[in-house]
Amino acid sequence: MNTLLAHDRPHMHIDLGVLANNWRTVRRTFRGQRVGVVVKNDAYGLGISQVAPLLWNLGCRDFWVSHSTEALKLRGLLPEHSTRIMVLHGLGGIAPEDFAAHGLIPVLAGPHELHQLQGYGSKHGQAMPVAIHLDTGLTRLGFTGTDLHLLHGSRLQTDIKAMIWVSHLGRFSHPDAPECLHQRHTFAAWLQQLPPAERSITTSSSVFANPAWHCDHARVGSALFGVQTAAQYQQPLQNVTSLYAPVMRVADVPAYTEVGYAGQYRTSQNTRIATIAAGYGDGLPISLAPRGVLYLKGRPAPIVGGIAMGMLGLDISAFAPGEIQPGMWAEIYGLHQPLAQLAATAGITPNALLTCTGALALRRYMSPHSGQEPLV
Ligand SMILES: *Cc1c(COP(=O)(O)O)cnc(C)c1O
Repeated sequence: MNTLLAHDRPHMHIDLGVLANNWRTVRRTFRGQRVGVVVKNDAYGLGISQVAPLLWNLGCRDFWVSHSTEALKLRGLLPEHSTRIMVLHGLGGIAPEDFAAHGLIPVLAGPHELHQLQGYGSKHGQAMPVAIHLDTGLTRLGFTGTDLHLLHGSRLQTDIKAMIWVSHLGRFSHPDAPECLHQRHTFAAWLQQLPPAERSITTSSSVFANPAWHCDHARVGSALFGVQTAAQYQQPLQNVTSLYAPVMRVADVPAYTEVGYAGQYRTSQNTRIATIAAGYGDGLPISLAPRGVLYLKGRPAPIVGGIAMGMLGLDISAFAPGEIQPGMWAEIYGLHQPLAQLAATAGITPNALLTCTGALALRRYMSPHSGQEPLV
């Protein structure tokens, strides 16, 4: 049985050629030395096994993941030579020696992780390469202003070698906000007191903001995957992903018919309902009902009757009889309905919608020369 051909669940189309273009756009725009790519959460739901080697082939050598499980998987996908893998959640209780053995660089999460590294230099005859989070205002991970003195000691220098200083913005979607500028100034002021290393505060939104944001190393995820992270200006990115789900059945029902569980919707006139194979088990937020729409043949059709685990209903009364048939594909997001628009309807961020739908869909990759056509 070739389940790849089945129209019984959502399919995500991922255009690797467009992803490559977005990488080139980021690389051209960022004035600093290195663009690192963030491929946490299975490359934001797109699939790290396809995405990471592609970016390596395009010249990227710095990869950021959340945790050690992702890091080990990534290690197996990429040539070891000259590739750096940074683990954003830090040591997480794993021995620093294990990180070193696999050539992984933990991003230290706070002062407590220094204890684990005490004596590393004398034991191994060299310092452990690390990156270090500096908490300039997000209040999430890293060393705060009062912790900084812990990074000065000469004994520390023999145990750890700081490769990259990392800070992350609280209001990343508004890099011009005073709070962000304050974080940037704090970062710069703290770095004057710390040993020299690469500086990394730039992410997708700030790559396209004022170049004052461009220091040595950008950590970029969303932009590569076509997700706009800054509300006030459009970044010159192309759409990479489209999500489709098939029509399973079409039925004409009279007025006063209940649609979906517990009579969530009741028709007020003769209505044509299409049942679609996509639900919350596929990552669609239940908050998409009752305001959301999906697109059929380039036209919107309202979601009616709520969102079940693997199905939802569309009111397709506006389409001609017979126009919509079982086996056709509805666009959940993509060309007609941008990911960000659907996410806004659901009251969540585009990345929240992308990561869970991508993780759960059947993913199809289109490479620049594959000649594959989209479904609809
Ligand atoms: C997720 C993440 C990034 C990537 O941000 P984008 O806006 O997707 O480019 C960068 N740095 C840290 C610490 C992150 O958690």
